[in-house]
Amino acid sequence: MIKINKIHKSYVTGQNSLHVLKGIDLEIETGEMVSIMGASGSGKSTLLNILGILDNHDSGEYFLNGQIVNKLSERKAAMLRNKMLGFVFQSFNLVSFKNAMENVALPLYYQDIPRKKRNLIAMEYLERMGLKDWAHHLPNELSGGQKQRVAIARALIGKPKVILADEPTGALDSATSLEVMNILQEVNSSGITVIIVTHEHDIALRTRKTIRITDGNITEIIVN
Ligand code: ADP
Ligand code: MG
Repeated sequence: MIKINKIHKSYVTGQNSLHVLKGIDLEIETGEMVSIMGASGSGKSTLLNILGILDNHDSGEYFLNGQIVNKLSERKAAMLRNKMLGFVFQSFNLVSFKNAMENVALPLYYQDIPRKKRNLIAMEYLERMGLKDWAHHLPNELSGGQKQRVAIARALIGKPKVILADEPTGALDSATSLEVMNILQEVNSSGITVIIVTHEHDIALRTRKTIRITDGNITEIIVN
């Protein structure tokens, strides 16, 4: 599903250049559930953003579902993202003035699906997350766990092949973290490839495989 060869990435700010990814090779099969672990600043989010076509790499190759991803136009990148990928973030990234149902329905707006149909589909996804009764609540009326479940429903509504989650439990207490991990495991059981960045060991243990990044290099791959 994902294959990258010798990916390098530097951030240039003014006169300074920071070499963050130093030749990453990685292969993730369809249906795998993997975690990416490493210290703060080791390049985890940079790698995930490249996998999510939210950022460009400088050199090396990235193949997503057999298609090469290389300096795509913003339009092509958006098309590929919408077709293939769903995102979950530590800070949920919900739109604060839209209710849970509208947040979940948002990706369908960009597919020109009429409002009534969007909301109906969104309700199905909320129901799967056990949040039917919370559909008309705003994000600030929801708990952290509920917000993350809304975000997962929003990530799933576009029928992605891969879910990319950057510290999805980073803002949650341990009981709620387990709940969110259970949901991500269910998502994976339905055949979707799941990639989770975390710095929590017990979260990583819930995935099949852990990829350790140290200072921009993959230093270890552990089968859990
Ligand atoms: P992690 O997610 O593992 O904590 P990141 O991938 O976010 O690490 O960051 C790796 C390094 O790159 C850090 O030193 C960070 O400060 C730097 N960095 C991240 N994003 C940018 C950016 N947009 N511009 C400049 N430096 C960045
Ligand atoms: Mg990060």
